[in-house]
Amino acid sequence: YKAMNIFHIPAYTDNYIWVIQSGSDISVIDPGDASPVLELINNNNLNLADILLTHHHFDHVGGTLELKKQINGKVYGPSGNIDGIDIHVSENDKVKTLEHEFTVLETPGHTLDHIAYVEKQKNIVFCGDTLFSAGCGRIFEGTFEQMHNSIQKLNQLEPETQIYCAHEYTESNLKFVISEIANEFIEDYFKKISAKRSKGEISIPTTLELERKINPFLLNVLPSDLQDLPKLEQFTELRTRKDNA
Ligand code: ZN
Ligand code: FE
Repeated sequence: YKAMNIFHIPAYTDNYIWVIQSGSDISVIDPGDASPVLELINNNNLNLADILLTHHHFDHVGGTLELKKQINGKVYGPSGNIDGIDIHVSENDKVKTLEHEFTVLETPGHTLDHIAYVEKQKNIVFCGDTLFSAGCGRIFEGTFEQMHNSIQKLNQLEPETQIYCAHEYTESNLKFVISEIANEFIEDYFKKISAKRSKGEISIPTTLELERKINPFLLNVLPSDLQDLPKLEQFTELRTRKDNA
């Protein structure tokens, strides 16, 4: 199989619109804003194939209707109230775009409609606002339990899975982690990411393997005072501390 050619378009202050490219065709994930996507298309003579949406928040879907005017394929997204979706998808549905096949995982918590798109041969996931590097999405609509289960669902993927999340939050997430956990590996990683960010480089994709070492929301590395609690309580307490940080 062919490797997947993936790159990002920055949008708003810290969103990433992920682009899959095959020759002159592209598909986009979570185009929160149409204008930077149209600029890319027009400057490089590209054709827009499909749009894949993870959840209903404006910074992820805001460009959909405008981009849909010139799409060659379909708009895929979760069931619910998002305008412009052609094909509503749910757990285990397949989405074929360009030459790639994604499997849909339902990952409620941040929103109730949230889904992720996994490419299981190439070990790639577009997970929107569910799992971030060194953090996870805020729980706006679901319960702590739903979010915990969704993150553990992503944690079942292969360790080498490349995680393409929708925001550049890594550095501030790591600041929180360091304030909670004394861990040399995480401190070194924070320094590495800070240096990258000060040069304007992006910190994404990350991998599941790495996240298991730096991301307490996966519950492998934890603040010492939470270690003896049941898993869901660990997650709930951590997410609550982050919300109040
Ligand atoms: Zn969101
Ligand atoms: Fe977002």
